[in-house]
Amino acid sequence: MTSEAAALGRAGALLTIDLDAIAGNWRRLQALGAPAECGTVLKADGYGLGAVPVGRALFAAGARSFFVAHLEEGIALRAALGEARIVVLNGLLPGLAADYTAHSLIPALNDPGEIAAWAGHAKALGTALPGFVQLDSGMNRLGLMPEEQARLVADPTRLDGIAPVTWMTHLACAEEAGNPMNRAQLDRFRQAVAKLPKAPVSIANSSGIFLGPDFHGDLTRPGAALYGINPTPGRPNPMAGVVRLEARILQTRRVDTPMTVGYGAAHRVEGPARLATIAVGYADGIPRSASGRGAVRIAGFTAPITGRISMDLITVDVTHIPEPLAAPGALAEILGPELPPDRLGESAGTIGYEILTSLGRRYARRYLGGAA
Ligand SMILES: *Cc1c(COP(=O)(O)O)cnc(C)c1O
Repeated sequence: MTSEAAALGRAGALLTIDLDAIAGNWRRLQALGAPAECGTVLKADGYGLGAVPVGRALFAAGARSFFVAHLEEGIALRAALGEARIVVLNGLLPGLAADYTAHSLIPALNDPGEIAAWAGHAKALGTALPGFVQLDSGMNRLGLMPEEQARLVADPTRLDGIAPVTWMTHLACAEEAGNPMNRAQLDRFRQAVAKLPKAPVSIANSSGIFLGPDFHGDLTRPGAALYGINPTPGRPNPMAGVVRLEARILQTRRVDTPMTVGYGAAHRVEGPARLATIAVGYADGIPRSASGRGAVRIAGFTAPITGRISMDLITVDVTHIPEPLAAPGALAEILGPELPPDRLGESAGTIGYEILTSLGRRYARRYLGGAA
């Protein structure tokens, strides 16, 4: 039995996550953005790969600033990481300021009410509390709007009790290096920050780091690139791959007469052909929209997905693969070096981000490397 087959155990599929590759990607982004500190984004359970093991590996590699989206994610990460700075991007939830301080979490303050609530909490505790303040520079999603920024400029005492402050903004088009929106957002952000109390700034997500030093600020916030997603679409991926997803071939069958495959009889085989049925489906995060478009790899051969992806199974065409290599019990690679998440995303009309964050929960999981 191969080590893959052994690690698979009773599961249909094996997800292997290379923590050393994630740490290597972080080092690479740190070097590229230096002297800015390279933070790490671990929201959505570390883009589906496990916020706790990924966070521990990144801390061991030297990362000290971690971003999550939700308060609950911050609380879970705090339990795994001792000393790190953890920022909750979605902001301060009403009435829950004490939950943030109890777990030493820093909210990204996204509107004047959140600033007031956090300052009030600091005053009640008789201490200063660190806070990120998000200034919307054109994303129009979260953060202080221009008129709210102007009011803060007019009365910076609203920030009393919040220290140290970090000014942050988020780019809408960073993965398009030539998009004028990037420079426009940077200019708007710089103009706002110039009028506010002096403090460190944070601008760049993964792709933003590749826009050059003007976008690095004092602290970068890469997520996707840590996990091997290409931060420079259209150009070669500078990041190392991190995930491998392999699933069992459950059955193979020969079809000799014209027949259809799968639900809806949507795919017609003109035969003769050999088909393999593999133990992953849309419940495992293989988007149904990749039906008839995606492919898997078996023993180094590409096998196109035929017919509709069902909940627990996909069917692939293995006619051209030597029979012993595509037999029941063999493993098919769904994601890996030849099939990065970006590629599956493209086949499914989505992006690698969504592929990773949709990965299912019933895989056997194996972590390679890392601190432990
Ligand atoms: C998700 C997120 C990031 C990370 O973005 P990537 O494109 O994954 O690097 C950074 N900042 C904010 C505010 C985010 O929401």
